[in-house]
Amino acid sequence: MTNASQAAVIVVGAGPAGLTAALYLARYRREVLVLHDGNSRALRIPKTHNAPGFPDGIEGTELIDRMSAHATEFGARIEQAEITDIERTAKGFRLTSTAGTSWESRAVILASGIFLNQVDLPHDVHEGAIKADVLRYCPVCDGYEHSGRRIGVIGCDADGAAEALFLRQYSDDITLMPLSHPELSGEQAAEMAEAGIAVKTGALAALEPHEDRMDVRLEGRDAALTFDVIYPALGCRPRAELATQLGISLLDEGCVPAEAVKDSGVRGFFAAGDVVAGLDQISVAMGHGAMAATNAHNWLREQDRHTLQATD
Ligand SMILES: Cc1cc2nc3c(=O)[nH]c(=O)nc-3n(C[C@H](O)[C@H](O)[C@H](O)COP(=O)(O)OP(=O)(O)OC[C@H]3O[C@@H](n4cnc5c(N)ncnc54)[C@H](O)[C@@H]3O)c2cc1C
Repeated sequence: MTNASQAAVIVVGAGPAGLTAALYLARYRREVLVLHDGNSRALRIPKTHNAPGFPDGIEGTELIDRMSAHATEFGARIEQAEITDIERTAKGFRLTSTAGTSWESRAVILASGIFLNQVDLPHDVHEGAIKADVLRYCPVCDGYEHSGRRIGVIGCDADGAAEALFLRQYSDDITLMPLSHPELSGEQAAEMAEAGIAVKTGALAALEPHEDRMDVRLEGRDAALTFDVIYPALGCRPRAELATQLGISLLDEGCVPAEAVKDSGVRGFFAAGDVVAGLDQISVAMGHGAMAATNAHNWLREQDRHTLQATD
């Protein structure tokens, strides 16, 4: 029906999960095609300090460049395209892009990541604040780098409270502020007080990033609050639409269930990285990528009636 180009495995996503999967599959001598729309979250990391093997840190763009070169060195192809549709075919899957191009494959690995729910700032200002290190979204990633600093957490609900408590191990100057209104239970408010975390009221009126600080204006206060860094705790939107199109049920938070690294319930379809429920980290995404690739490879071997399994 189409002149769709073919690959044994298509990987959707060129972040740490997708590029690790591509590397493994290429080294299993599979024909692998990576399709991506240029939105890896890793590309936004000014410098990560918890990617194992890089004690001096590595910029996200450099990490992705190195990983892309590594995968293509072994034969993986990488093309830019936004995939909007996936359907089952007799031989596997057909994926179609916004431009109407189609590709077919026997297996698919979805490594499509998440979109963060962000604070409302113009794009350039927002990205500039991330680079300046006054706006961060991931305490697990870089809480350590903000030890002893004045830290503000935006999102006065259970998630914000959990994030503030997590950051408390790094600083005794933590303030929790609402996006619109505080939603802490009495128990959570008491926990904040006990931990020495200040809780402010008043909806967020404005964020004013500077080179070395973030000023926060809350409704009902004349003076701005000043912080060295702000962590919005506003959740995320997993990019799981393609899994949904195949009938895979998502978890409440919109993630693909963790089992999909091995078995999504749709034969030949696997998932890896942030789109899967778990810890959203580079090292986890890489581990998922390796596992999903090996599971896809073994599944293809099984289809081809090979019996030896690659297990380690
Ligand atoms: C500012 C910032 C700092 C961070 N710091 C750290 C850190 O220090 N340490 C750490 O471990 N983690 C950090 N992270 C998190 C880290 O970036 C992610 O955990 C990691 O990138 C997840 O990898 P992934 O491959 O699952 O997803 P991503 O890297 O987000 O890649 C997703 C890929 O899927 C593609 N894609 C999605 N949907 C489609 C579609 N429909 N069609 C085509 N392509 C699609 C995207 O283009 C992209 O290539 C940080 C994140 C941010 C934003």
